[in-house]
Amino acid sequence: MSSMSHTRISFKRAAVILLCLVSIFTLASCGAVKMEQKQIFAMDTVMTLTAYGKKAGEAVDAAASVIYSLQAELDPELPTSTAYAINHANGANVVVSSQIAKMLSTAKTVYDRSDGALDLSIYPVVKIWGFTNGHYYVPTNEELSMQLIRKAYDKMILTSYPATGSYSVSFPADTEISFGAIGKGCAAENAISAMRQAGAESGIVSLGGNVQTLGSKPDGRKWTVTIQDPNNTANWVGTVKVGEMAIVTSGSYQRFFEFDGNTYHHIINPQSGGPVSNSLLSATIICEDGTMADALSTAMFVLGEGRALNYWRTYGGFEMILITKSNQVICTKGLIDVYTPNEAAGNYKVKYSE
Ligand code: AMP
Ligand code: MG
Repeated sequence: MSSMSHTRISFKRAAVILLCLVSIFTLASCGAVKMEQKQIFAMDTVMTLTAYGKKAGEAVDAAASVIYSLQAELDPELPTSTAYAINHANGANVVVSSQIAKMLSTAKTVYDRSDGALDLSIYPVVKIWGFTNGHYYVPTNEELSMQLIRKAYDKMILTSYPATGSYSVSFPADTEISFGAIGKGCAAENAISAMRQAGAESGIVSLGGNVQTLGSKPDGRKWTVTIQDPNNTANWVGTVKVGEMAIVTSGSYQRFFEFDGNTYHHIINPQSGGPVSNSLLSATIICEDGTMADALSTAMFVLGEGRALNYWRTYGGFEMILITKSNQVICTKGLIDVYTPNEAAGNYKVKYSE
C-alpha cells in the first residue's frame, strides 16, 4: 500500500519534471516569444488575429477593437454609420474620417484605371440580388436597368481640408455606395497598425479572403500564406512566402446562390449588373497596402485575365495570381521565387506572366 503511494508520488514528480523540460525546450526553441490569438466575428466574416511578443495580448485586443469600430462606420444599413450618412445625404457634403477618405480615393483610382470595373456605387444592384441580406433573388433586366442608372462614382467630390486635417464627400442625390469590396482590406490594414502601435513584435490577421502581416515570423523567417483552391475550399493550390504584406483574394466561390439550376455569385459586372462571367475563378493580389489590395482583387476579378494582366503591366505596384476555370494558375513574374504550388492540389498548371 505504502509502496503503491510512493510509486504514485514518484510518477507525478517525474511527470512534472518532464512537463517543465518540455516547456523550457519549447520556449527556448521558439525564442520564448509569447503568442496570443483571438477569433472574432465581424463584417460577416470569421476573423483570426494573431500577435507575437510581450505585448501580444494588448495587440490582439487593439486589433479587434479597430475592426469593430470600422464595422460600425461602414455598415450601410446601420443608421449611425458614415456609410448610411453618405447614402442619405441627398447630395449634401458629409464629413468623413481619414480612413474613409482613403478608401474612397483608393477606390476612385482603381475605378478610373479599370474603366469602372470597381464601382462602390453598384450597391443598389448588389442589394437587389439579395447579397446584402441573404434574401436571394434573380432580377429582371428592367429591374437591373432601374438600379444601374443610379451608378455615380465618377461624380464623387472628395475634399480634403489640410488646415484641419478633415475630409468631406458628396455624391449626387439617390446614389448609394457600399464598402463591401474594400472594407476588409482597410480593416486588415488598421488591425496591423493597431498591433504595431500596441507593441507587437510581429503578427498576422486573417479576415476571410484578406490576410495581412506585421514584420516576419517570430523565428525571423517569412510568412507562408495559402492560396485557396476555388474548386475545393478545404484545400489550397499553392503558397506564397512574404514579409510584411497584404494578400487578398476575390473569388466567385466565396459567396453565391443557386436558382433554377444556375449559379449566381456576388461579384457584379457594373456594365451589365449581373455576376461577372469570364474565365476566372479567383484573383489574388499581393501588395503592401491592404486597402489597395482589396480594391484591386475585386477589380481584377471583374476585368478578367487579359485586361487584368494589362492593368498590372500598365500600373504595376502589386503581384497577382489568377486561377482560371481551365485550371491555370497565372502568376505575375515577381512571384517566381515566392509562389510554391501544392502538389496535392489537382492538376493545376502554373504559368508566369511577363
Ligand atoms: P470582394 O470580396 O472584395 O471582391 O468584394 C465583393 C463585394 O463587393 C460584394 O459582396 C459586393 O458587396 C461588392 N461588389 C460586388 N461587385 C462589385 C463591383 N464591381 N465594384 C464594387 N463593389 C462590388
Ligand atoms: Mg476586394
